[in-house]
Amino acid sequence: MEICAATNNAGKLKELRRILEAQGHTVKSLKELGVTIDPEETGTTFAENAKIKAEAFCQATGLPTVADDSGLCVDALQGAPGVYSARYCGRHGDDEANNDKLLANMENVPAEQRSAKFVSAVCLWMPDGRNLLCMGECPGSIAFARKPGEYGFGYDPLFIPANYGLADGTTRPNTEQRSYSQLTPDEKDAISHRGHAMEKLGQQLAAFLEK
Ligand code: IMP
Repeated sequence: MEICAATNNAGKLKELRRILEAQGHTVKSLKELGVTIDPEETGTTFAENAKIKAEAFCQATGLPTVADDSGLCVDALQGAPGVYSARYCGRHGDDEANNDKLLANMENVPAEQRSAKFVSAVCLWMPDGRNLLCMGECPGSIAFARKPGEYGFGYDPLFIPANYGLADGTTRPNTEQRSYSQLTPDEKDAISHRGHAMEKLGQQLAAFLEK
């Protein structure tokens, strides 16, 4: 099926594209479709914002559209930055400033209290208005300093997932404390919040389309 991957975030687009293509779909980006609208994320939950974006971009493109709303929830910060992850520092999409603010707010938090999770809500919106919403989570913790790697975006250098994926499809505990940035795309997709949400979407898609 031809699907619009509705995000202006280059990192997310890369992930949505590779996950959807691995499921046999043809992916069109907003850029390829010439769509420049920027719907306001007025929801207070990841699920609400994913639906808002998927519906708006589906209407603009006329294609079945997948949108993801995601973010980082830190226990010691009562779930912040949460739905405000992209604009934690006060500006939208400034990854470096967002990471600086997170490190500053976590400065005095001891190792055993640095637990966090990434959450993703993925919504597929069909031109006839039907929609399918799937959630995914990835547990982990916040590093004391950036652990940059070859990959990733956003808070990836600061997030230490509890597990990572292996080539044989299994997962293993992240005893080496590698950050999301230090995982290869396959290692991340197998355990990531977006990977889990997209996996559920893939599993439910055929039955949903037959309804
Ligand atoms: P939104 O879903 O477009 O509102 O933005 C989500 C924000 O959460 C991004 O701008 C990133 O800061 C962060 N985020 C979501 N998923 C990831 C990820 O896989 N790695 C790092 N940061 C992420």
